[in-house]
Amino acid sequence: MINRPLRSPVQRELDKSANDWLERIPSIQAGFPLPLQIPYSVGLRKSAHLQWRARRYILRITVKNIKLTKQFSQPLPSRVTIYPPIDDSRLPRRYLPQGGASSNMVTSQVILNCAECETEIPYAARSCVGCGLDAGFPNVRAADRVNEMEALRERVRYAQVAAKERGCADELEAFGTAASDSQAVMVRGFAALDGFVSNQQAAMISYYKMVRAGIRLPENNDYDANRDRIDGTINPFGVHEEIQYAALSLDGRGVKWYGDYAITLREKMISARASVFEENPFLFCDKHPIPPTGAVPPGYRATWPRRGELAMAKLHPRIRPGMTAADFPAILVEQGIRSADSDFIEVHIYGPIHPRAVERVIGPEPSKRADRVIWKRVKRNLEALGAMVDEE
Ligand SMILES: [Zn+2]
Repeated sequence: MINRPLRSPVQRELDKSANDWLERIPSIQAGFPLPLQIPYSVGLRKSAHLQWRARRYILRITVKNIKLTKQFSQPLPSRVTIYPPIDDSRLPRRYLPQGGASSNMVTSQVILNCAECETEIPYAARSCVGCGLDAGFPNVRAADRVNEMEALRERVRYAQVAAKERGCADELEAFGTAASDSQAVMVRGFAALDGFVSNQQAAMISYYKMVRAGIRLPENNDYDANRDRIDGTINPFGVHEEIQYAALSLDGRGVKWYGDYAITLREKMISARASVFEENPFLFCDKHPIPPTGAVPPGYRATWPRRGELAMAKLHPRIRPGMTAADFPAILVEQGIRSADSDFIEVHIYGPIHPRAVERVIGPEPSKRADRVIWKRVKRNLEALGAMVDEE
């Protein structure tokens, strides 16, 4: 415990008013990852309200003359969890994070040891540095840590409570069940799809591996300029260089912005080495500023078998009473008109992807005559791989 100086009568009054104020705002909603700091000591008059504008939810708080705003791209659920910089024990219980521990307070890396020889396993290692046995895939190991699972479970519990309050508990469960069966879908342009399925002696490798090999050039844009840093924040110690990306999908469709052809990957070819992550890392790092020596807060990634839980934790605000299975695909992948508007749960697949991993391709017949000839070849190659083709 931190030693606190004795409170003066004025401070006591401020504490009381902060409490009164907190008591009066049950109309603001309970957000899970919302470390909202209320500088209670600045003044006595406080107000808060929510606005909805341009797909952004804006929470405005006025403390005396100081205006604070916080933006959210998702609707806030039914109550705000407030972490005031005051003695927590004096606050009404419902304003404290459930279980007393906030997931965004835990940022340190959890160390794992080899089950066989107990040697500490470096974060990025594929095999034990002590005994050489397979240590599993680093991204899966990272998602399988106790603190990650507990934080995710806490989010799911919160999602269930919030959905119950809104009268759609069953719909949320149905969504979770559907998402537990979702598939990994990659999206590619025509030429990339052709190249991928034309040669069974080659596998698809990560963006970073292609750049290293000199077969791909980073583009002069803000995304490629920052890609290494952002991806490396989510999968540190160089693990990101091994990762290939897909999106969780319920209907074989991926994020259209990235290309015309949606490639569903066979579950058995990726499930052991795939983990799932909350959203596009660029969006995530925008919402959760991570200090230079910090780490991604736990609860935003999951192993492949637990992908349904991550979907529930993230997307519960979008579930409505009366929704059915037909509504779920558009909730899991929200199509945007620019890459930054699209929202999806990212699948992180460790290592190369062989053409045999393709289960299904959805895409249009090309409009140019020359491309239609190539399309025939692509379809033939896909059929030879045992993959389904859905032309549309
Ligand atoms: Zn070992």
